[in-house]
Amino acid sequence: MRTAVYPGSFDPVTLGHLDIIERSARIVDELVVGVLNNSSKNPLFSVEERVNMLEEVTLHLPNVRIEAFDGLLVDFAAKCHAGVAVRGLRAITDFEYELQMSQTNRIMCPELDTIFLTTDLKYAYLSSSIVREVAHYGGDISAFVPATIVERVFEKFVGENSFGGPET
Ligand code: ADP
Repeated sequence: MRTAVYPGSFDPVTLGHLDIIERSARIVDELVVGVLNNSSKNPLFSVEERVNMLEEVTLHLPNVRIEAFDGLLVDFAAKCHAGVAVRGLRAITDFEYELQMSQTNRIMCPELDTIFLTTDLKYAYLSSSIVREVAHYGGDISAFVPATIVERVFEKFVGENSFGGPET
């Protein structure tokens, strides 16, 4: 059985993440989405909220499960018995960091290979930080995140701006 991990912050999950999850779930037998519990990043959503949102939007994918993790990716992959880590590449700007990370991980754990899926062009611009920024100013984020996530993001900004969320 081939198990892969797909690590990230997912703060919040975007349609770009979901596309990578759906595509990699077709390649492997089991995909474990690892939600990084990184307190130094000061996330908008708690790790529990991010896990819940991912569980909600991957209900249609029986071979995908979601787990929180902290510490090193190589340790999380070993715990999941995964030989593959999946990452998404949007642009050349992702490449340098991703290459460095995957080489570092291979030195620490030669059994773990990283595979890169190139973004679907329609999500090439999309990142969680763009979603947070647009939502912060009351903009429409329905093209960026799964429909069930839209309200959850705006709830985080209630009282913080004068827009009070999306127009209905
Ligand atoms: P991190 O904090 O590790 O960068 P992210 O949640 O931002 O976590 O992203 C997790 C993974 O998903 C990374 O490999 C990132 O390159 C990829 N990713 C993020 N947004 C997209 C997108 N729009 N298309 C394809 N891959 C993406």
